[in-house]
Amino acid sequence: MRNKLDLAPIAGVDETPASYLSRLAATNFVSAREFAKDFDLSFQSIVDGCSREIRKLCELGGTTFHDLMKNTVRRTGPAFALRSEELAKDSIRRVRVLICPACVAQDIATSVQAPGLTAYGRLAWTLSPVRTCSRHSIALVEVARDLKPGVRHDFVRNIASAIPRIPRILDRAIHRPPSGLERYLLDRVDGCASSPWLDKMPFFAVAKTAETIGAVAEYGRTVNLKKLSENQRYTAGGAGFEILHQGEAGFTEFLAGLHKTYQVRRFGSEGPQALLGRVYTTFGQGLPDKAYDPVRDVISRFVKVSLPLGPEQHIFGKPVGRRVLHSIRSASIEHAMHPKRLRKLVIASGLAPDPSLPDRKIVFEVEAAKQLIERERTSMTLNKVPQYLNVPTGTFRVLFQAGLIRRHSLGEGELNEVFYRRELDEFLTSILKNSREVPAGDLSGHHIPAAARRARCSAVSVVRLIQDGRLSWIGRRPDVRGFLSVLVKVDEIRPFVAGEELRGLPIGKTTSKLHIHHRVMKGLIRLGAIRTERQRNPVSRNMVTIITYDELSKFSEEFVSLFMLARERRKHMPAVLHDLRAIGVRPVHEFESVGATFFRRSEVP
Ligand SMILES: [Zn+2]
Repeated sequence: MRNKLDLAPIAGVDETPASYLSRLAATNFVSAREFAKDFDLSFQSIVDGCSREIRKLCELGGTTFHDLMKNTVRRTGPAFALRSEELAKDSIRRVRVLICPACVAQDIATSVQAPGLTAYGRLAWTLSPVRTCSRHSIALVEVARDLKPGVRHDFVRNIASAIPRIPRILDRAIHRPPSGLERYLLDRVDGCASSPWLDKMPFFAVAKTAETIGAVAEYGRTVNLKKLSENQRYTAGGAGFEILHQGEAGFTEFLAGLHKTYQVRRFGSEGPQALLGRVYTTFGQGLPDKAYDPVRDVISRFVKVSLPLGPEQHIFGKPVGRRVLHSIRSASIEHAMHPKRLRKLVIASGLAPDPSLPDRKIVFEVEAAKQLIERERTSMTLNKVPQYLNVPTGTFRVLFQAGLIRRHSLGEGELNEVFYRRELDEFLTSILKNSREVPAGDLSGHHIPAAARRARCSAVSVVRLIQDGRLSWIGRRPDVRGFLSVLVKVDEIRPFVAGEELRGLPIGKTTSKLHIHHRVMKGLIRLGAIRTERQRNPVSRNMVTIITYDELSKFSEEFVSLFMLARERRKHMPAVLHDLRAIGVRPVHEFESVGATFFRRSEVP
């Protein structure tokens, strides 16, 4: 058992064992290493937190073992530990010394000992993510750097040159509150953790992650992490902590922000590396420790649901496995569809919030892509149908208007008005099912549009006769496909469609026949001089308003317009009017309001 030395300082609050050893040595007029040698202590073991050696040091100085031991960063193989926290090599300052000038000034002011012996090294100053004195809210100041191995950890010697300058250093000190990260890390060391997501990660990983995320948040995704100043690292740590303190949700929101600002750039790669910059590369290349897996997990999850990555692509070296998102480009490749067509469909379906983006930047869920492509495979838009059925456009329109071919609306816009391929096939089957193939050159039948023309009926009627099984003969040309391959016999059609013709003319056609203006015709109808009727149009199957042939001839026999009279008599209208007036023939009084002059035929000589 050694005796306590006569000259021994009192250990300070939060003082590290190395600082205490340094001050004990200096008090006895030697360097820390000389002192250790003299008293058979292992200096390196004390620095490395060996409890046996620290106990020996405490006995020499007469200080309490527990007080020093709790401020010990212990080497644990390749890593380090502080109380229950796990530290890494870069969590500790070894070749630099930072101090709080206010703490040192206070040490000096409250002691009767020599200033150089009374200032002591605090545990917090040895932790590299801590850059602010939380007691004084002052940025720590570097007083030594690039220390050679032989002089490291000898606190008294390392700060000796700064002691006379302390008042000046204090004057110039930057006043700032400790960042959220600094407060959190020091709380962790004190055993009071307070951030659910970060609490699960070791001390060193929290520090590194917060500073990296914060650096990207503050200085951009391509920030050079190695070139940041201490002040920038302080800012980055604070910013990163604010993001990560909100857990996975906060972290994901930050990543989404990076994604959003990246999308604005129209060109360049769309991989996770380009999108997330240092956030991705730092955790993808530099930090293999499993401690960073929670960070990588959040990034992976985000990338999978935000970027159109195929199952063969990798995130942090692991294959994506299942694709979540497609871009127009990737979907067009996978489903062998022309990107221009797919782009139209995607935009028409409202899947692209910004339709001005290029194909590889318009992304949507795989499921949505599947549905679109399935729909494209099973349906077609109006302009494609006539060719598909091989039916002349005019005939198609008539069949469509008659409801024989149905269209479906799947959303807003023309591209969402589709015909199902299955229904079109069923339509063809319905007219082909009872057909028999005719030898080439057999001219006994006509295709449906020709037969309809000859029988003076609509193709709709012919199709209905076929579908209803009313025809005994239906042919099929082997050299023609679809609708036009079907042949029928006009003679067989005629009896069914006789009387189907309109019994008169639609109003539009009567005006040219009577040589009167449409407005005049409306006037005559309004006055009841001409009656109209509703009849089903045999071609279009719509109800139309007509004027019967009977009604037309009745009117023409009873009345004649001045225009027609002039034409019949090859005279100008004023001359005819003059002649008639001269013999006392007056225009029909009741028709004065219709905008043309009429006479009763019976009164006209
Ligand atoms: Zn301080």
